[in-house]
Amino acid sequence: MTAIVLLGPPGAGKGTVAEILVEQGFEHVSTGELLREQIRLKTKLGLEAAQLIEKGLLVPDGVVVGMIHSLFDRAEKGKKFLFDGFPRTLAQAIKLDELIAAVGGTLSDVILLECEDEVIIKRLSGRRTCEKCGTVYHITYNAPASGDVCDVDGGRLKQRSDDAVDTIQKRLDIYAERTAPLIGYYRDKGLVHVVDATLSIAEVRAAVFERVGK
Ligand code: ADP
Ligand code: AMP
Repeated sequence: MTAIVLLGPPGAGKGTVAEILVEQGFEHVSTGELLREQIRLKTKLGLEAAQLIEKGLLVPDGVVVGMIHSLFDRAEKGKKFLFDGFPRTLAQAIKLDELIAAVGGTLSDVILLECEDEVIIKRLSGRRTCEKCGTVYHITYNAPASGDVCDVDGGRLKQRSDDAVDTIQKRLDIYAERTAPLIGYYRDKGLVHVVDATLSIAEVRAAVFERVGK
């Protein structure tokens, strides 16, 4: 089993970049998407997580690690995981190392998508997501062919409730406080590869592909 971590602030483009690596056989694991699935299913976990997500706060480490743990339990040999939005705290990063070690796997790369706050605010406030298939668009930078309808399956495009301006700022503060320290943690292991995420979608995808897509 090998794994790659996509690290970077909310809105840097992790999910957008992940799409091309899925074509290379990676399983895209977005903890945010797994949590939103639980919210859609109205499970107990989902209802509890929704209250925190709505406010831009992190869900407890144990909840997120539990979801990742269950993926490892059923992963076959040769599996390639692409983690997006996980880990987000040092405790989660240490747990991920333990889970990988326990199955004799390798964390091969940490791709750091660097992007300043001004750019992120523009990206997140214009983000739209298909309510059926989850495809991500932007009203200006990556617009669908027609109106607020998904190109893939005609689903309705929605704005995420945590993409409200006040909540974006809260999420950026939490990233700086809780997640940015992971850059040092992974740098010490020689795993970090920095990509300038302010470039166009095509350029960012090309830079990431150059590093891990072949
Ligand atoms: P993350 O997964 O890091 O939260 P997303 O991939 O959802 O970020 O991207 C956030 C928003 O920015 C989306 O609306 C997406 O279409 C847009 N976006 C992503 N990458 C770029 C880019 N390189 N240039 C312009 N817009 C981008
Ligand atoms: P994302 O889709 O990655 O932007 O995540 C949306 C929200 O889900 C975050 O703002 C957090 O509230 C929650 N979340 C996602 N991943 C994690 C994680 N690894 N740890 C804690 N909370 C998370």
